[in-house]
Amino acid sequence: RDSRQLGFPNSENDGGHDAKNLRVKLVLLGDSGVGKSCIVLRFVRGQFDPTSKVTVGASFLSQTIALQDSTTVKFEIWDTAGQERYAALAPLYYRGAAVAVVVYDITSPDSFSKAQYWVKELQKHGSPDIVMALVGNKADLNEKREVAVQDGIDYAEKNRMFFIETSAKTADNINELFEEIAKRLPRPSAS
Ligand code: GDP
Repeated sequence: RDSRQLGFPNSENDGGHDAKNLRVKLVLLGDSGVGKSCIVLRFVRGQFDPTSKVTVGASFLSQTIALQDSTTVKFEIWDTAGQERYAALAPLYYRGAAVAVVVYDITSPDSFSKAQYWVKELQKHGSPDIVMALVGNKADLNEKREVAVQDGIDYAEKNRMFFIETSAKTADNINELFEEIAKRLPRPSAS
């Protein structure tokens, strides 16, 4: 009741009474194996556990962060959980998402191509004011890098996305990713 949903057209919380506590649906997209689950676990639990394969998609995990202006943002994080195999469900998955995080693996050019496919899908089916982030994960594997940083920057710029490279393994830029997204969310005006 204290939070205001962004991007849920039928939200009963549309009174705009609480601009300080935002609740947003965030969808994760990207090839299997790029590290989506590990990014979420690192963000939500502060852990990196390559052996535990957690299925986030059944419901979702959520995490709240506080910004400097005392706004709080509660991310409801939806993992793809094999959405690739059920293309018909994709529009349902995107529905109401205020944020999309598209992940690739910097050691995998294929995963970078796949990320571009997901961006096009989002442009077709997502909300027009969705905040999109492009994430090059596994930045700790720089010696195996096959996608140049500049390629990520250029693609993100062309598609009006926020770009960052992360490592779920070392925790590099994981909190920064979510903080930057939070800053970019459209704010409901206080009433
Ligand atoms: P998902 O299918 O996209 O959810 O990918 P997972 O989160 O299951 O990760 C796939 C594999 O990549 C696992 O073996 C992880 O241990 C590994 N992984 C995930 N993130 C990183 C990272 O930042 N660096 C490295 N070196 N490995 C990672």
